[in-house]
Amino acid sequence: MKLATKIIHAGAEPDPSTGAIMTPIYQTSTYVQEAPGVNKGYEYARSQNPTRKALEEAYAILENAKYGLAFSSGVAATDSVIKLLNPGDEVIAASDMYGGSYRLFTKVWERYNIKFIYVDTTNPANVQAAITANTKLIWVETPTNPLMNITDIEAIAAIAKKAGALLCVDNTFASPYLQNPMDSGADLVMHSATKYLGGHSDVIQGCLMMNDAALREKLYFIQKSCGAVPGPMDCFLVLRGIKTLHVRMKQHCENGAIIAHHLSRHPAVAKVYWPGFEDNTGYAIAKKQMRDFGGMISFELKDDSISAANKVLSSTKIFALAESLGGVESLINHPASMTHASIPREERIKNGLSDGLIRLSVGIEDAGDLVADLNQAIG
Ligand SMILES: *Cc1c(COP(=O)(O)O)cnc(C)c1O
Repeated sequence: MKLATKIIHAGAEPDPSTGAIMTPIYQTSTYVQEAPGVNKGYEYARSQNPTRKALEEAYAILENAKYGLAFSSGVAATDSVIKLLNPGDEVIAASDMYGGSYRLFTKVWERYNIKFIYVDTTNPANVQAAITANTKLIWVETPTNPLMNITDIEAIAAIAKKAGALLCVDNTFASPYLQNPMDSGADLVMHSATKYLGGHSDVIQGCLMMNDAALREKLYFIQKSCGAVPGPMDCFLVLRGIKTLHVRMKQHCENGAIIAHHLSRHPAVAKVYWPGFEDNTGYAIAKKQMRDFGGMISFELKDDSISAANKVLSSTKIFALAESLGGVESLINHPASMTHASIPREERIKNGLSDGLIRLSVGIEDAGDLVADLNQAIG
């Protein structure tokens, strides 16, 4: 089955009680049992909910995985993966990644004696060099947020396998439309469904996909024991959002390419970060593992002062100044003061994330209007 058909039908079975084509929002906390211990597979809604079940099946199908699990947010999904580990275990994580993951690792999990080693995963040799007998997990994001660095998932999967460690890929930026890490050997895929999967900036949710039944059982145990489950209304919103993932993504990619090329020719722009430029170091790998290049773009002005960036950030009329990404509307963001403010400045600069860097989540409005908006804001 081709992607568009899979996306439309993923997890969608007519409701058994009425034939409703859309899975109803099962807004219930519990289920009446026929006799003690005799039930229809549903006992209590933290453990099972039909709306969530439909979505979890859709999640699995989208990533070519056997199983999907939904969580109350992307960071709750990430948190659940770390809960697979024991004190003393080591995680190799990308040095350039989502600020909230970094905060969760350093501020919460390091206190429980889980050790995180940050390396530039774009060079697999760095990952190999960081492997020890205690390495239990490799955490990769590609393309990275916000510098759009590309990591070779296949190469890292081979290293993880040899080391007996799990590889989890945060696939939020690419979405399943552009990239399926399981096909390249990842053990786990994580998404902030808040972004492209939901697609309409109206819900917070996360998910994990996996093939291994034992791993699914462990994560399901964590999901129900720790309780970071999404409500049925939120599951419905993501199920609804997923139905148009392919048409939205096609337009995000088309608009993204137009804007990336426009910015790269703009006299006031010093550098544009977008995976689709042929002279990018990661281009060959992006070509190999992605179907297209997406609508996430970062850029730096020739004037790299915070005030020059601030002028652009406060002058756009269509691009809204906001955190988050992946919705139908275009957003503009200042990583240093917004999404990545939790990373110490020294660390940020070391990782190439300058004070003047501006990030765009290109929406699906008219591309000409978006170009004109950036032109008037950059001046
Ligand atoms: C937003 C985001 C997260 C966290 O997801 P939430 O749904 O906000 O908890 C994780 N990784 C990436 C790449 C993100 O963009």
